[in-house]
Amino acid sequence: MSEHFVIVGAGQAGAALAAKLRALGFAGAITLIGDEAAPPYQRPPLSKKYLLGDLEEARLYLRPLEYYEEQDITLLTGDAVKDIDRAGQQVRLASGQVLDYDRLALTTGSRPRLLPASIGGDLAGVYPVRSLPDVDAMASEFASGARVLIIGGGYIGLEAAAVAAARGLQVTLVELGERILQRVAAAETSDFFRALHRSHGVDIREGTGLSRLVGEAGRVTQAVLSDETTLDIDFALVGVGILPNDDLAVAAGLTVENGIVVDAVTRSSDPLIHAAGDCAVLPYEGQNIRLESVQNAIDQAEAAAAAMMGHDVSYAPVPWFWSDQYDVKLQIAGLNQGHDRVVTRPGDGGAQSVWYYKGTRLLAVDAMNEPRAYMVGKRLIEAGKSPAPDVVSDPSVDLKTLLSR
Ligand code: FAD
Repeated sequence: MSEHFVIVGAGQAGAALAAKLRALGFAGAITLIGDEAAPPYQRPPLSKKYLLGDLEEARLYLRPLEYYEEQDITLLTGDAVKDIDRAGQQVRLASGQVLDYDRLALTTGSRPRLLPASIGGDLAGVYPVRSLPDVDAMASEFASGARVLIIGGGYIGLEAAAVAAARGLQVTLVELGERILQRVAAAETSDFFRALHRSHGVDIREGTGLSRLVGEAGRVTQAVLSDETTLDIDFALVGVGILPNDDLAVAAGLTVENGIVVDAVTRSSDPLIHAAGDCAVLPYEGQNIRLESVQNAIDQAEAAAAAMMGHDVSYAPVPWFWSDQYDVKLQIAGLNQGHDRVVTRPGDGGAQSVWYYKGTRLLAVDAMNEPRAYMVGKRLIEAGKSPAPDVVSDPSVDLKTLLSR
């Protein structure tokens, strides 16, 4: 009898997993279940071109709807999996439908951390930036001259700040840490982006948290900051991190540690259940980590597809990431976790790259409008090559020669 593979979560990873199963020749039934109304779509433009109004909704879709029909992938949107019966190998949906599975994949992604209602997080005019409905809901707020407070100086907050500034809004961004991008980048990269935003008129306040939002008639009108400053605002965007969607896995008794723990074969603690993308915790260089990126969602999901078909798989991510702010494209190769040394390399016209080392080993590169540094850095990291930091930082050295040394 034909096998049935069920995929819970119809986002970047879920869609990649379903497509890869067919590409690898899986002939059984595939059901891809998503609780959002839209078919699988890409999120990166939500804080970039889509927020800017430069991209139509249909351009966000990862595949046209016909694709799922052509590939005989049953796509159920607007329905959520409510629980997993591992012993019976079944999932139950909110609609009441019950599906048997031979193998199950959890690609449930993550959700934004929200501000608690006790500090005004439930006021109208306060928006997270995660989904298409989130961004559509805030579209009418983006009128020129409007005053927006952005809470959180990570990539999403900074990208939203760039869009808001470009659209003529008055932008204040608060970051509780001592500098923007503190969790993910070296001070040199933070300095680059702080200067960029300030040059576009964004008021960046670091080491400053939000104490509370204040509203009138249920709508936000003011923000009180940790230094007791009060700002009059028209709306607020919240970009203070994400939490993995692992509740289903917890309820099903799978091993969960701030995400669904999987091995290099993408298997959870139940060998019939795989997980991939933002919701999964995977082994990486002796540690258990979560990677919140398109690269990982696709690559890990494709590895999961192969593993579900019984192929020999070992997923070892080669992380890369990007961010667009104004006319700057940041490209990141590798993962800088554990670095103890950083060198910068100036490029042309204000471009710059930041190279992260642990001892003498090159770990990662942040390349700001420096595609060549990104490309060379990525190839060096993949090949396990580490040029000496003083060679890298010397702008008279042609980067490409580093590959052949
Ligand atoms: P998702 O794409 O979130 O998909 C998970 C889906 O599962 C969601 O639709 C969710 O609603 C659904 N789901 C959850 N539980 C259930 C359930 N029980 N039943 C049914 N469905 C369920 N990454 C980059 O690499 N570069 C970028 O520039 C970048 N920019 C970003 C900008 C924004 C605004 C955001 C929000 C993210 C950005 N990311 C970026 C991150 C990237 O989009 C994510 O890492 C990626 O989407 C993860 O894919 P996923 O499939 O794991 O999760």
